[in-house]
Amino acid sequence: MKPKQPCVHCRRLFIANPRVNNQKYCSRDRCQRARKSRWQQRKMDSDTDYRQNQKDSQQTWQTHHPDYWRQYRDSHPQYRERNRMLQKQRDAKRRAKHLAKMDSLKRLKQIKPGTYYLIPCTGNLAKMDALTQKINLISAAYDDYCASCKKGLDRPADPVAVKGSQ
Ligand SMILES: [Zn+2]
Repeated sequence: MKPKQPCVHCRRLFIANPRVNNQKYCSRDRCQRARKSRWQQRKMDSDTDYRQNQKDSQQTWQTHHPDYWRQYRDSHPQYRERNRMLQKQRDAKRRAKHLAKMDSLKRLKQIKPGTYYLIPCTGNLAKMDALTQKINLISAAYDDYCASCKKGLDRPADPVAVKGSQ
């Protein structure tokens, strides 16, 4: 007889069915649902044909049942409330991201164009040689600027330093 092993979903010990190769889930309904859901999620991530078939069949089903989701939302206030809450979280996240972007832009604007000494921040600062560089600020269209730089167009007369992520 095989030894008992823990189910990867519910963590209860179970004896694997000898006919099932490499069984990880016990036979409880919710664990089998979790197993199938996980399989389907992986299939959706890896198989483009499967993903397209799922999408097509969902659309076909939806054209045959146009009122299903509206009725479902009407009859399931908890579902509706949960969706509303999740949407609020997504909105808050988006706002926070936008504010963070604005903050970093403000910080960038606080750097005044001019001549600066660039000193590496690693090691002993006293022994490091300072490097004089002129700092020019580049506006939001930096990506376009970089693309033209690579082509050798719009090359500025002075060297340009850009605030990096370090
Ligand atoms: Zn289980």
